[in-house]
Amino acid sequence: MSIIYDRVALIGLGLIAGSMAHAMREGGLAREIVGHARSAETRRTAREIGLCDQVFDSAAEAVAGADLVVLAVPVGAMGDVAAEIAPHLKPGATVTDVGSVKQAVIEAVAPHIPEGVHFIPGHPLAGTEHSGPRAGFATLFLNRWWLLTPLPDSDPQAVARLSQLVRAMGAKTDSMEPAHHDLVLAVTSHAPHLIAYTMVGVADHLRRVTDEEVIQYSAAGFRDFTRIAASDPTMWRDVFLHNKEATLDILGRFTEELFVLQRAIRMGDGQQLHDYFTRTRAIRRGIIEAGQDTEAPDFGRTPGAAKAD
Ligand code: NAP
Repeated sequence: MSIIYDRVALIGLGLIAGSMAHAMREGGLAREIVGHARSAETRRTAREIGLCDQVFDSAAEAVAGADLVVLAVPVGAMGDVAAEIAPHLKPGATVTDVGSVKQAVIEAVAPHIPEGVHFIPGHPLAGTEHSGPRAGFATLFLNRWWLLTPLPDSDPQAVARLSQLVRAMGAKTDSMEPAHHDLVLAVTSHAPHLIAYTMVGVADHLRRVTDEEVIQYSAAGFRDFTRIAASDPTMWRDVFLHNKEATLDILGRFTEELFVLQRAIRMGDGQQLHDYFTRTRAIRRGIIEAGQDTEAPDFGRTPGAAKAD
């Protein structure tokens, strides 16, 4: 693989930035990878494990001379970080972000981007419940989608170069309108996370079922909820605060559907439940056919290895 960007600056050194550093290094996609994180502890860990070629104490120093700057901080912090780095960006550089919400990030970041610097927002649809500088791994993006939401005046050549990097890290890429992105993600990721958080919260509140029972008899359904509900609280707080409209829209529809199913159970309407579950099963098949998950039972877990993933 050949070098796509000479110098890449990662701002925020957590799961996503770390995975990018590993993937770019493995593929030889950048001549130099530098980074910055706000806390001394994260910077120390990043240096210790050699996450980047150089870790700087300030974001300004990290972006100086960078051809690609990646904002990999929580959605709510993007605007402040953009304001801080703006005066230090190299003319002709590309700035991208990996935030899980797009409209709010564009509103917060775009006003700070100087003339002559390309801002191309993006979102890798890949993650785990782990966070921090040690959480990243090179194959995180393999066969996963990485959506770009270019602005109307984004330079096509700059977009093509960023797409090339994303594909070289193993991801598939597509372009989308920011508002549509936020609605799609509300359905596929944001609302499901909130439901998982709620279900785990319900189990916690339900004192008739002891904590030991919940943990000991946690079959696949609940166990998967607990994995999702272990996701980073700061990241997810920001997702809901910044994708408010779309998430509330989907949660409203979810509540309506839940009432329909609740009524079917109360009325003993087995046909309705069966029809509903038949439709949802087809969606799972579609996800497998699209190569976005494994067909192996229980996500391919080894029996008895409940904590293996
Ligand atoms: P992470 O592992 O928690 O790392 C976040 C990084 O941002 C850390 O280096 C942290 O610095 C820094 N940070 C936190 N708050 C900050 C603030 N107020 N100002 C400046 N820096 C701050 O997070 P991540 O999972 O890599 O997520 C980064 C971005 O990717 C988020 O916007 C998220 O929405 C998006 N994303 C996440 C996933 C996922 O599943 N995790 C998937 C796709 C996209 P310290 O360590 O010094 O505190």
